[in-house]
Amino acid sequence: MEVRSGRALQPGAALGPVYVQLPRRTGEEPSTFQGEGEELARFEGARQRTLLQLDQLYRRTREQVGEEQAEVFHLHRLMLEDGDYLDQVRQAVRGGEPAPGAVLAAGETFAAALEELADPYLRARAADVREVSRAVWEQLQGERAPLELDRPAILVADDIAPAQLIELGREKLLGLVLRNTAPQSHAAILARAMAIPAVTGVGGDPAWQGREGALDGARGLFWLEPDGETRAALREEERRAREEATRLAALPSRTRDGREVAVCANIGSPQEAEEAVRLGAQGVGLFRTEFLFLGTEHPPTEEEQYALYRRAVDAMKGRRLVIRTLDLGADKCPAWLPLPREENPALGCRGIRVSRANPKLFATQLRAILRAAAGGRVAVMFPMVTSVEEVRWAKEQIEACRAALRREGTAVGPLEVGVMIETPAAALLARELAREVDFFSLGTNDLTQYTLAMDRQTGETAGGWDPLHPAVLELIGRAAEEGHRLGRRVALCGQLGADLTATETLLRLGVDELSVPPAAVLPLREKIRGLDLSGPAE
Ligand code: PEP
Ligand code: MG
Repeated sequence: MEVRSGRALQPGAALGPVYVQLPRRTGEEPSTFQGEGEELARFEGARQRTLLQLDQLYRRTREQVGEEQAEVFHLHRLMLEDGDYLDQVRQAVRGGEPAPGAVLAAGETFAAALEELADPYLRARAADVREVSRAVWEQLQGERAPLELDRPAILVADDIAPAQLIELGREKLLGLVLRNTAPQSHAAILARAMAIPAVTGVGGDPAWQGREGALDGARGLFWLEPDGETRAALREEERRAREEATRLAALPSRTRDGREVAVCANIGSPQEAEEAVRLGAQGVGLFRTEFLFLGTEHPPTEEEQYALYRRAVDAMKGRRLVIRTLDLGADKCPAWLPLPREENPALGCRGIRVSRANPKLFATQLRAILRAAAGGRVAVMFPMVTSVEEVRWAKEQIEACRAALRREGTAVGPLEVGVMIETPAAALLARELAREVDFFSLGTNDLTQYTLAMDRQTGETAGGWDPLHPAVLELIGRAAEEGHRLGRRVALCGQLGADLTATETLLRLGVDELSVPPAAVLPLREKIRGLDLSGPAE
């Protein structure tokens, strides 16, 4: 048995075969200069392919982990659009450097400059610049770095790219043993969000390939060929951690002054519903169904959708599942859906507007949801609403589908109906909307975007992105008040719900339910248990 000591990145125990990926071979292959025009075109092609890949990774991460964690791919996109970076690559090419070498050199220059900075956040971005340069380099080589685990393993590497984490997924990665990963790097942030035990500061060895390993993420320890005693201790630790999750999940989700607050999960696939329940979610407050419609060659059929929704319903074991109807448009455009090209897509045809323009697509989804509702507690809600009339139209479609299914002799279930409050118009019309629906769900991502007139994709980078802006809070408070006036449940499913510094404010504004990424459920429940709302706010 050999023990290596490093630093904790993410607690948790892992036992299993070791997969070594050392060293990263970027830049080893020679490349000959094909002429300036040719090399520039190669670079541009590789850059475009990388941008496409980053968009896909952004969507997958958002679906599987959360919006905040997906931001890294957006950041990488911005780096690949940075004028200085592009000039540097192009200049190197004009000086006779083949495109792959030019890309790596530009990445290195930018990374070195970032490493000089005092701010640890900016210093950690050096890894991102290298990562994105490597991604373009791989495109130029016509290959992706081989990292294919044929079975779940503990990955030993110098570093891991966020993209690789997402591509391999939680099932394949038992644990991570890294050499150089900063705790604030995006890879570390993602590993934490995906709950993958991880240590850093441990240099690997190719001779470890395929041998048994073990790691204790909390103590920053890695063992090669752990002895029986170590294995038993780690298993025990893992058992205790699971027990702790179960214990925490069984504790009430109630403030110290006795207010019950439901904590639910946001999901993008039925598999996530299972994980959400394991991690203590009291229901699903937002099933983003549009993810099922992206990356496919045709829209999923009614049967396909029914099977997916039904699987999620079954996973809930009696808990409530809120299915949001398609929120396509803006940054979510499947190839098969002809959407108009717009100057400002976030202000154009998206959400319920896409459904109105494509009533058959909407009806197919509603039929599948109504059928799935026969198996459990299901609610449906509509995105991007700005008028009462839109909600009335959507409800009419539900009733028409219900009647048709009944005529066909197909079982349907009751559906609670809700509306997302994610435009200022919806918040301002809360009194009228409350008459139409059973519940509200505050989408603070879009509500912030449209209230502050600040792009949610770039606002954070540009500065000033603030879901706790007084104007946003005013709209949240107003919607909660109007909803409660008619006894409607007021939920919140935007990313703000997972910000523990905002919990007290949101509860004081009257939010009854918070829906957050699955990994954020237990910490949020613990936060709620610690709050006392009986006195005035501090
Ligand atoms: C929101 O806008 O806050 C929301 C939950 O919806 P999405 O992030 O899917 O737009
Ligand atoms: Mg939204």
